Amino acid sequence: MGEILRVRTTKHTSIVNITHQVREVVKRSGVVDGICVVYTPHTTACIFINEGADPDVVRDIVYALEKLIPWNDPNYAHAEGNSAAHIRSAIIGNSRVIPVIGGELALGTWESIFLADFDGPRERKVIVQVLGEGT
Ligand code: ZN
Repeated sequence: MGEILRVRTTKHTSIVNITHQVREVVKRSGVVDGICVVYTPHTTACIFINEGADPDVVRDIVYALEKLIPWNDPNYAHAEGNSAAHIRSAIIGNSRVIPVIGGELALGTWESIFLADFDGPRERKVIVQVLGEGT
């Protein structure tokens, strides 16, 4: 069963914790044993899983990405001017697969699922597809 979530981002760089919404899709799917694919169909946004307990972790990820892939680089060729967003998205990847066990996402204790928007604010789509066996 698949669903499309719509996530409104609020800043140029926005990292949004979407774990709760994904869990709700898994619940509605009735799948007990299977996999959950979380995918965003955008070229300047991506999906990653990391620590959701301490917000400083996400802050440091953003800091490091900005340092590694600066917004302004005179050697970028892409005329739209948002190459850094494309590169950050390409490196991180626009999907993740999470096992579903006992009807729940098998995430680690400190893990959360994040949508990262590097060229917002915009409305972003997140497609959640849950595959497997029900009860
Ligand atoms: Zn572009």
